[in-house]
Amino acid sequence: MNNNRIWLSLAHMGGREQEFIQEAFDTNWVVPMGPNVDAFEKDLATFLGEGSHVAALSAGTAALHLGLVILDVKAGDEVLCQSFTFSASANPIAYQGATPIFVDSEKDTWNMSPEHLERAIKDRLSTGKKPKAIIPVHLYGMPAKMDEIIAISNKYEIPILEDAAEALGSKYKNTHCGLLGDISALSFNGNKIITTSGGGALVAKDEDFVKKARFLATQARDAAPHYQHTHIGYNYRMSNVVAGIGRGQMLVLPERIEQRRANNCYYREAFSNIDAISFQSEPTPDFYSNYWLTSILIDTEKSNGVTREDLRLALDAANIESRPLWKPMHLQPIFKDCPYYGEGVSDDLFDRGLCLPSGSILERHELERVVGVVKALFK
Ligand SMILES: *Cc1c(COP(=O)(O)O)cnc(C)c1O
Repeated sequence: MNNNRIWLSLAHMGGREQEFIQEAFDTNWVVPMGPNVDAFEKDLATFLGEGSHVAALSAGTAALHLGLVILDVKAGDEVLCQSFTFSASANPIAYQGATPIFVDSEKDTWNMSPEHLERAIKDRLSTGKKPKAIIPVHLYGMPAKMDEIIAISNKYEIPILEDAAEALGSKYKNTHCGLLGDISALSFNGNKIITTSGGGALVAKDEDFVKKARFLATQARDAAPHYQHTHIGYNYRMSNVVAGIGRGQMLVLPERIEQRRANNCYYREAFSNIDAISFQSEPTPDFYSNYWLTSILIDTEKSNGVTREDLRLALDAANIESRPLWKPMHLQPIFKDCPYYGEGVSDDLFDRGLCLPSGSILERHELERVVGVVKALFK
């Protein structure tokens, strides 16, 4: 058996991607937008269902940025954002000159705590400022507690910009992640459950939002024979070449979800006798995760002193990539002065958590190698 590097999450082609790319070349649609983009958007809308509308964009980050622009977030505004996330959830707030207000996670899903969210809103209102949007994130594919978050959004009339970048194929109460916010962002970056090599999409049930996104993403050109502009525009549309990859990937998306979930299941069984290891888990049957990355916590009181970092280094020594959970935004140097509402849940997750190799491309003998290293350390 070889000792090749095992990676956290690699691109996994379905086989037909190059046919769609070839089509773009054969018809000379080697441009931003075109038939592959239209078809990819249609495939995504069909997959998500419920009258969803989709604008394919150059990145998930672009989708989040346009979401904020469409929700009228401007300089000096405040936006509530899950602290426990990748920086791309928060950076677009700064692009707008607005201030992120970070909210801690709860322990069940590891996502935005509805309790701290409401506390943050009340406190911001008491300072005379009403936040303009709420950004919950479905980390590692696990849906956030959306009923509670939506109730708060309705109560205070603050729209939700849903960061579903990691959660394509995940569901909450049988509704797809991506359809739980007023506006949502998906990502097709190289490490996500499906990829276009790089890309994203803005999703909404309200078609007006998606029309606005397409308009803003193509330099905000008004309807006129000459170049006429009444808005600041962006160049955020997806290229027709990479959309071909997306079309091919959509053919295998259900399979990819099953494969990621099977990896998660395999790890759970393998570690069922190790008391020191617990998993990010669906709290009730209302939650359905694509388990984009299988993520575990180490309980150092039960591990004979073995830490997350010990495990990461042991895996690395065996040529296996793993990664600590996201470092919360309120702990990041760049955001250290932003307001934060919480009680250290995400700090603790960061200290004790590790993402294991989770790609759909992983083979059984590779999963066995990972398990072997973990078991040896915790025996
Ligand atoms: C990947 C990711 C993004 C950004 O998506 P890109 O397509 O890489 O711009 C945003 N938020 C989260 C939580 C992500 O994991």
